[in-house]
Amino acid sequence: MYLAIDDTDSSNSMCTTYIIERIITESKYDIIGYPELVRLNPNISYKTRGNGALNINLGRGSGEKILIGFSSGRKIYGFERMYMDADEDDVIEMASSIVGDLSELDDPKTNPGIVVSNERLDEHLYKKALQEDININYIENIIKNKRYKKFKNGHGIIGAAASLAWNKKRVTYELLNYRYPHYENIEKDKKMDIAMIPEKYQSTFNNIDYRNKYPAIFPKPKTPVIFGIRGISRDDIFKSYMEIRENYKIDDEAAIIYKTNQGTDDHILHEPELLNDLGSYRLTGTISSMPFSIEGGHHFIGFTYHGYSLYLAAFEPTKEFRHVIDSLIPGDIVSAYGSLDGNTLKLEKIDVIYTADLLKNEPPFCTKCNVKTRSKGKNDYRCPVCGARYHTPRITKIKRGIEPGRYEVPVIARRHLSMPLKLASHFGLQ
Ligand code: ATP
Repeated sequence: MYLAIDDTDSSNSMCTTYIIERIITESKYDIIGYPELVRLNPNISYKTRGNGALNINLGRGSGEKILIGFSSGRKIYGFERMYMDADEDDVIEMASSIVGDLSELDDPKTNPGIVVSNERLDEHLYKKALQEDININYIENIIKNKRYKKFKNGHGIIGAAASLAWNKKRVTYELLNYRYPHYENIEKDKKMDIAMIPEKYQSTFNNIDYRNKYPAIFPKPKTPVIFGIRGISRDDIFKSYMEIRENYKIDDEAAIIYKTNQGTDDHILHEPELLNDLGSYRLTGTISSMPFSIEGGHHFIGFTYHGYSLYLAAFEPTKEFRHVIDSLIPGDIVSAYGSLDGNTLKLEKIDVIYTADLLKNEPPFCTKCNVKTRSKGKNDYRCPVCGARYHTPRITKIKRGIEPGRYEVPVIARRHLSMPLKLASHFGLQ
């Protein structure tokens, strides 16, 4: 029996993943497979942080069992198969009580939703939830024959239902560990040292941003999450987690490894004919203006894609990535990845495919004396030796400040769903 939940936290406390951990620990059922952490449209305005929804499959398990975490010293396993489904009423009752107790219901923006289903939902819903702002009535119509529970306006049923439609074509893992209500302060330097541990494994990603001194495995607000290690190998994730736990004496109460769509670029639609606000795209087109910046350190450049005139944006948080934008000129051809807000594509990464020639006028050489002429005004050049006059400049190419290649925002500015370039070959992309 699938149980999905979303929208339980506020911006400064709780985390829906912690509620799932509590449900896993307190439930009388086994977990089938892994718990799932599914990120949805990153451009939804009412998200708290990373627009993540969670689901688990509950029942009596059989077949091989895989370690998926621990809670209060007890090991938690995910089973390969289900031999008996969980009782629907039991599941909704138990989940409602835990969600009701732990959710930040006083926060006006917190509207938890629970969906229970004995089957996955059609993947079209997942794709839609990555691109659009879905109306709650649309979801209630899809789940009308299922058990679901809304707290307050129940907006969380949108993310919850969409998480059950995740097609799992591209999968990564994240291990999150917890202490409720939050772990005591770890100083910044120590956080940087800790974040170096998973970084030793090539299969992990988004651990640390050295350049910007940002230990990305730690959440910014205080929540029950202590840290999260992301990667494509669950073994490497577990090894680095154990090393951190032992070396730094981290006194966590639980840790769970999730299957996720993080780092998969599942939100990116490739080269569509029509663009919609709030969608995320890869668009191949031509740079159409010189770069410019506005107050606050946000950098932009004009870009044409099919009939669309857009701006590509590298906002201040993207730090050194802004130099990439500054190095482009009209005529360059790029594939830009990002999300659309009005006529601005907020960049996550960019493939520079072709760099146009950057030309400069220089004084020509005197054909008789073979010395460089001197400029005496517009298109007026004189030989300093024989005085011969020339009216046509010599056109030379200037070395460009950028080469064709792939460029991505630094870890500090990376979105959960964005595929880091280092994962491209893992997912069979060149
Ligand atoms: P956290 O990551 O800390 O759990 P969050 O960023 O996921 O928080 P929520 O508090 O869960 O934010 O709020 C997200 C809200 O957006 C939920 O109500 C969810 O149902 C809803 N939602 C998710 N995707 C869509 C979508 N495509 N269209 C409309 N609503 C959506």
